[in-house]
Amino acid sequence: MGNEVVIGIDLGGTNIVIGIFNRHGELLGRHTSHTGVDGSSFTVINNMVDGMQKCLQKHSLVLSDLVGVAVGSPGFLNRKEGMIYLAPNLKWRDFPLQKVLEERLECPVILENDANAAIYGEFRKGCAREFSSAIGFTLGTGIGGGIVIENRLVHGCFDMAGELGHMTLDPQGPLCGCGNHGCLEAFASASGVKKYLQEQYPHYKDSLIYSLVDDNLDKVSPVDVYQAALQNDSFAVSVFQRVGKYLGIAAANIINIFNPPVVFFNGGMTNAGDYIMNPLLAESQQRTITASYEKTTIRFGELGSDAGLMGIGALAVEAFFC
Ligand SMILES: [Zn+2]
Repeated sequence: MGNEVVIGIDLGGTNIVIGIFNRHGELLGRHTSHTGVDGSSFTVINNMVDGMQKCLQKHSLVLSDLVGVAVGSPGFLNRKEGMIYLAPNLKWRDFPLQKVLEERLECPVILENDANAAIYGEFRKGCAREFSSAIGFTLGTGIGGGIVIENRLVHGCFDMAGELGHMTLDPQGPLCGCGNHGCLEAFASASGVKKYLQEQYPHYKDSLIYSLVDDNLDKVSPVDVYQAALQNDSFAVSVFQRVGKYLGIAAANIINIFNPPVVFFNGGMTNAGDYIMNPLLAESQQRTITASYEKTTIRFGELGSDAGLMGIGALAVEAFFC
């Protein structure tokens, strides 16, 4: 009984991050290994199980101390059936992840969408921990999201709720990876910004952004925009204003629909700080019913790339110890 632990896994296309948590939700140890995506599902599974065993060993624990495992996975999944329907980063389609892991580990396994896990991490342990409801956006290569109402993640009928990155903000806007035009993701994700920078190159060739990458448009990223903005490059500042504007419109939509106590943003783009936050606040204030805006806190996350691990750990603790 004394050694009972759970494991939370933040499964990404590049890395597998494993955390061991005790029943009080304390992180006892962590381990990172390469996902090793090679087209065979079992390579990834072997790397996960291997990483878990190493992590347990390092902390003088064994598989039989494990009460349960929660996996935050990218892609579309069905929690009830324990299936990953489609995870392009992992090259998985219709993969019964829960069953396969349960057989290997001989303990119960639950699945959660990775963006939901990251939002739950900020909700429980990070920037929204003082609230009982929260709605968050994860800003990465794409844009994900999560909705927590009265301490529970909202999953929808088929586990597809919270796709905040695919709210349409402009029907005539740029093409999104999902096939729709003008999604938030097409405007404010790292890949959306990169595409914008590539398109705008002929008009802003003199911008510092482009000289930072020697005019190699394949390399340009929001990090270069930030470096250029710090040196008062006016185009760079306008790129962040544009990102902040669209995030602000999205925040206003969320506030008008849910009237949440807090809306937050986690992920790499938040490193741009006030370059994004100032236009975001101005835009959301302008587009939100005043009484609702005044009662909603808007902020950036605190946990950075740890949000996913902390969230999936909290979900594991709640599922297996509560
Ligand atoms: Zn989309």
